[in-house]
Amino acid sequence: MAAVLEMKNIVKHFGDFTALNNVNLTVEDGETVAIIGPSGSGKSTLLRTVNCLTRISSGKITLNGTTFVDGKPGEETGRLKEAKYLPDRELKKLISETGMVFQHFNLFPHMTCLKNITYAPIKVKGEDPRKAEARAMELLEMVGLSDKRDEFPNMLSGGQKQRIAIARGLAMEPKIMLFDEPTSALDPEITGEVLNVMKDLSAKRITMIVVTHEMGFAREVADRVVFMNRGQILETGTPEEIFTNPKSDRLREFLQAML
Ligand code: ADP
Ligand code: MG
Repeated sequence: MAAVLEMKNIVKHFGDFTALNNVNLTVEDGETVAIIGPSGSGKSTLLRTVNCLTRISSGKITLNGTTFVDGKPGEETGRLKEAKYLPDRELKKLISETGMVFQHFNLFPHMTCLKNITYAPIKVKGEDPRKAEARAMELLEMVGLSDKRDEFPNMLSGGQKQRIAIARGLAMEPKIMLFDEPTSALDPEITGEVLNVMKDLSAKRITMIVVTHEMGFAREVADRVVFMNRGQILETGTPEEIFTNPKSDRLREFLQAML
């Protein structure tokens, strides 16, 4: 299997605070990786470094064989400028090969659902609008919302908004999808409709990283589960290993608290 994402010795400082403390993570093609861990442990920060919403202090990140940042360990002092990134143009292109779904949807409020989905392919990739629309309709169908194509986001329920956000993320045909607690802002009774879409994507072997508090989803759907604590990956393993045989007291405590 080929690695879609390789993260080596990732360190992220916010001022004096170390949010990521030497994190190593590899995601293989087709893999679904769930990241769990207490609030403030660095899950979002880690996810955001993959598409450069957050720039690392040091470490090396390779996406699809292209190393876009390489800050040598030991040289840096923790300031952003020490880690060397690719020039903006190249970086932008690489980032366009990732799709991200946020907790709070972040749909464009002034665009219809269809426009939300076709915007980036047309604008960033220069795709033919009719081709982009055809693909958007397929995606709408996939998330079960074909009838919402001309609606604006404020007419949709939270679960529907999030399914549109997933379709939008997929529209760029990303090499990896990043989900940051996609169901945390939803009422419990509608988290299922979003989790089901994600489960389908996983079954289709779309490569994805999912930060989640949904232990059932992590256990059932993930190929691998990563437990973060205080800016570090404390344990990683199959769902079986993580949920039925946690090694550290910290993970055991965390899992007990999540029940
Ligand atoms: P999680 O997603 O696991 O809850 P985060 O990655 O959001 O955790 O945050 C990890 C830590 O980094 C937290 O203590 C948070 O306050 C801090 N942090 C995150 N983003 C920033 C920022 N932009 N500036 C300063 N501190 C931040
Ligand atoms: Mg978070």
